[in-house]
Amino acid sequence: MKTILFNLTKPELEKFVTDMGCPRFRATQISEWLNRGAPDFSVMKNLPEDLRNKLDETARTLPVKIVKKLESSDNQTTKFLLELNDGEQIECVLMRTTYGNSVCVSSQAGCAMGCKFCASTLLGLKRNLTINEMFAQVLVAQWELRGDKLKDIKPNGDPNNNDVSHIVVMGTGEPLQNTENVIGFLEKLNSELNISWRRITVSTCGIAPQIRELTKWGRPINLAISLHAPVDELRSQIMPINNMYKIKEVLDAAFEFSESLNRQLMIEYILLGKKDENGETYIYNATEEYANKLSELMRGHNVMVNLIPWNAVDERDFASISGNAVHRFQDILIKNGIHTRIRRERGADIGSACGQLRLKNAKK
Ligand code: SAH
Repeated sequence: MKTILFNLTKPELEKFVTDMGCPRFRATQISEWLNRGAPDFSVMKNLPEDLRNKLDETARTLPVKIVKKLESSDNQTTKFLLELNDGEQIECVLMRTTYGNSVCVSSQAGCAMGCKFCASTLLGLKRNLTINEMFAQVLVAQWELRGDKLKDIKPNGDPNNNDVSHIVVMGTGEPLQNTENVIGFLEKLNSELNISWRRITVSTCGIAPQIRELTKWGRPINLAISLHAPVDELRSQIMPINNMYKIKEVLDAAFEFSESLNRQLMIEYILLGKKDENGETYIYNATEEYANKLSELMRGHNVMVNLIPWNAVDERDFASISGNAVHRFQDILIKNGIHTRIRRERGADIGSACGQLRLKNAKK
């Protein structure tokens, strides 16, 4: 296996280059390139060509390598299929928005949670990602935006704005099954890329004890809870984790986080339809009754309910519901005084919208 230079400490990198017979200052040059997300050695123009070739034989730059890059038709979303050093594959997504450039990061290869509507869990969990494997996803996006150019911040929404400004840990995997590394990753983002806590969002299916760990950690990030159903009976049918942590325990932990850190809590609610035996779609978790139940759970708390139209996953037997049904559900929440919005999906045409990330090319 090749040595991943990004994983070396500065003294280790210095030893690596001096062992190759190079002067020590080459380590500084290389590490500047690594921190900008250089995908390979060919871009390191201030290194002699024979050194670049030699490095290429024994080393890699980042702990992730781009296998495939897909661009959405509106050019706002780029999905990367990345390979890790042990051959596992993950995905990450760069979204150019009016408020900045956001990267959706995966926290695990695969996922063990088994949610019935999601593609990421179809092949089960492969393994947790390391701090650097998560950080490198951001660097890949940063390189895509900036290449070898230096930081040149244009106003948000300007297509030439080349700075990663927002991070959502909403790719494949359950971040709170990998809490220690996720926290290490977020600390590194904050200290090395200056990404403020308020521009970071971690989304969880609801591992209550780990939510309490985030509260103890005490950084004012955004917490998102994938709720998707307001009663335990329904939630357990679509999210196996609900058999372990019931809605009340999850929400109590989440409200405690939000109150203790003074952050608005985000609730994610996919609007699901299902097909009956005649192939007709009926509304599954988005009825009037459920809208009222959801409102009761939220009442009195500082929350934003993000309604997510379901994105198609072939292997899953759910269906999208009509725009009218989505709005009817939302109207009930609004009438009940609950803050809510409908999530604008990005990159559904390249399979990069919520719940569509998966190990497409995965070797089983
Ligand atoms: N495991 C974490 C992180 C994944 S986040 C979590 O569960 O929160 C991805 C978000 O997309 C979650 O809210 C998830 O429930 C949602 N999602 C999954 N499948 C989806 C689909 N097919 N359509 C729309 N959203 C989906």
